[in-house]
Amino acid sequence: MSLQRVRLQRKDWVTLNRARAKVGKTTSTLHKWKLRSNSECPCGNQNQTMDHILSECTEGPHCTDQDLRDCTDTAQAWITHWRDKI
Ligand SMILES: [Zn+2]
Repeated sequence: MSLQRVRLQRKDWVTLNRARAKVGKTTSTLHKWKLRSNSECPCGNQNQTMDHILSECTEGPHCTDQDLRDCTDTAQAWITHWRDKI
């Protein structure tokens, strides 16, 4: 069931591919690009990296690299939560 082919909207694909490549617009990245004055996450973590929001952040669901590769329900729930935030 979780491997069923799903129709993702373009924005969801973009988020999925960013997560897979670990190049999302997390605050850590924006800070590096000097687009933000700090790299804090809303959860209070000092450095919001892609790994942080994939596996640690208390602000949203988590998912694994395997979920991202297979585009599982878990990955989709993660995308739905984060797509407008990263
Ligand atoms: Zn966080």
